[in-house]
Amino acid sequence: MSEVVHLEDETDRWKWVCPNGHRNWEPTNNHFWCQTCARKRELSGEFDELRDKTTGEVHARDDLHLVTPAGPYRDLRGDHREGSA
Ligand SMILES: [Zn+2]
Repeated sequence: MSEVVHLEDETDRWKWVCPNGHRNWEPTNNHFWCQTCARKRELSGEFDELRDKTTGEVHARDDLHLVTPAGPYRDLRGDHREGSA
């Protein structure tokens, strides 16, 4: 079951946390990046899933629909072809 994450919605920013429970993550190319994790030497700060704090369940990036006020979040680079047509 896919979940929708509103990237700039306060409720969703509260609800969705990095696997280590932080809220200051950002979407990047095909994965996520957590500022707090990145500051810790033993962690890379990169991860592929978000945890739903309300259920404790972890959802893979592929199962999440990222939405911004302007519409669906799209990776700036990635596996989509660009420049054609
Ligand atoms: Zn984190």
